Amino acid sequence: KEFAEISLKDIDRVANSSFPLCMRHLFEKLREDHHLRYGGRMQLGLFLKGVGLKLDDALAFWKSEFSKKVGPERFDKEYAYSIRHSFGKEGKRVDYTPYSCQKIISSTPGVGDHHGCPYRHFSEDNLRAALSKMGVNSRAMDDVMDKVRNRHYQLACTLTFEAIHGSSCDAGINHPNQYFIDSQKILQS
Ligand code: SF4
Repeated sequence: KEFAEISLKDIDRVANSSFPLCMRHLFEKLREDHHLRYGGRMQLGLFLKGVGLKLDDALAFWKSEFSKKVGPERFDKEYAYSIRHSFGKEGKRVDYTPYSCQKIISSTPGVGDHHGCPYRHFSEDNLRAALSKMGVNSRAMDDVMDKVRNRHYQLACTLTFEAIHGSSCDAGINHPNQYFIDSQKILQS
């Protein structure tokens, strides 16, 4: 059973409390730019589907942002299809699964892309700034950066999880949706 299902009215709150940094970054960029390129739409869109956002809510969510940039008609014409498609409602009707950390870490975001894993793809300065915004204190930050330098990105994410939840994550983080579920379990207990 899915542990948590989110609805549109909760999305900003749960993004702030329970999204891993990769998804937080995409979410913030979407709110800021009212647009995400394909790689970001797929990475965030499938994650949101995985946390239980229903198709109608997903369409409303993406439309509310993209409309501010491209207008509602262009959204309906150019973007709504691929969202329905990722839910298995169009084309070959494949119900796509959310990306794992491994897949995200090995992606290759280009200029103007916001997908990928921040532990792997951010500069050190940007990563430090993002982590401190998440509430990681300086002692934990050093441990996280140490893992990053040794290319242990998922361990860096696990340490971040532990630092901001004040609770251990023995299994380690291997999937953004697992991060979300483990976070919600702690926050709702
Ligand atoms: Fe996202 Fe996984 Fe990277 Fe954490 S380790 S930021 S969950 S891709």
